[in-house]
Amino acid sequence: MKIHTKKRVLVTGGAGFLGSHLCERLLNEGHEVLCIDNFFTGSKDNIIKLLDHPYFEFIRHDITFPLYVEVDEIYNLACPASPIHYQNDPVQTTKTSVHGAINMLGLAKRIKAKIFQASTSEVYGDPQVHPQREEYWGHVNPTGIRACYDEGKRCAETLFFDYHRQHQLCIKVARIFNTYGPNMHLNDGRVVSSFIIQALKNEPISIYGEGLQTRSFCYVDDMIEAFVRFMNSPNEVTGPINMGNPCELTIIELAQQIIELTGSHSVLKHHALPKDDPMQRQPDISLAKEHLGWEPQVSLKVGLEKTVAYFENVLSTINLNS
Ligand code: NAD
Ligand code: UDP
Repeated sequence: MKIHTKKRVLVTGGAGFLGSHLCERLLNEGHEVLCIDNFFTGSKDNIIKLLDHPYFEFIRHDITFPLYVEVDEIYNLACPASPIHYQNDPVQTTKTSVHGAINMLGLAKRIKAKIFQASTSEVYGDPQVHPQREEYWGHVNPTGIRACYDEGKRCAETLFFDYHRQHQLCIKVARIFNTYGPNMHLNDGRVVSSFIIQALKNEPISIYGEGLQTRSFCYVDDMIEAFVRFMNSPNEVTGPINMGNPCELTIIELAQQIIELTGSHSVLKHHALPKDDPMQRQPDISLAKEHLGWEPQVSLKVGLEKTVAYFENVLSTINLNS
């Protein structure tokens, strides 16, 4: 879809999973995109097809350092999202969330840009309220191994709302629930990508704990639609707004669906449950429906089929080159 008003849009973390889809969507809408990434978990492969686009520009930059550019809108997505990646250098994870937010908010203030924050369902921690609504304050272990991410993102939300109250910044805070699809990192350990790769290789499926913990998985195209609608919503719609697919299932059920879909001979293999792993998670998306007229359109089956096709292609390319 082409638009009439071309905007200059900064996407931090633009070479990551969600960021690369967002850059492509914004270019398709006729905007100019400035993509910033330090390639901590992102990859050039995710943006390679965008590099020749006349309105796409890439800068290798770490958002924990100040950035001086001129844009109309900022989507702040830079931050590792997978537990094994964000726990790999937890101090840097907190810096990315907190110093990164301060730098991007300072930029937004100077240039009077609208700014979107990729927050997370992890702000609810291991929730004692189900499904999770935005008014719930959460149940987070502040000193545990997930805290660098959870508390970093919570502090970033605080900063966004203080900049809004103190400096009248136009903010859009999205609480993203588990999202999956093409361009996920091959080895980032997130459950959907891990299970699909294990199934395609007929290797045992790694179930952490009993596998009775639940998650609700949203396909990436639905999520990107929500981001764009949120950015285009009236200024008074600040969030936080939950974004995710309420269709909840256990990790065992997810494994079974992926085995069936891929026709795999994989068996389930249980491992220790990581510390502080949330037991259940399901978004209440009433606010997203009310303010953005948004709800997910892609079923888990269709989304998984597309994701399996993507990883089949990635694995066959790796096999060809090895
Ligand atoms: P991702 O790891 O694929 O992408 C993150 C990107 O940020 C990567 O390209 C990485 O290199 C970059 N990055 C990390 N630290 C940086 C820094 N200091 N400076 C510049 N770039 C940096 O993860 P994703 O799934 O695309 O997640 C994107 C955002 O959405 C993250 O902020 C994440 O917390 C949030 N989120 C994602 C999910 C999900 O299920 N995918 C759920 C909740 C929240
Ligand atoms: N999980 C699993 N096996 C894996 C990877 C993850 O059983 O190989 C479980 C993990 O313990 C968690 C859920 O799947 O309960 C989702 O994990 P993920 O890392 O994708 O995201 P989270 O929602 O925990 O941040």
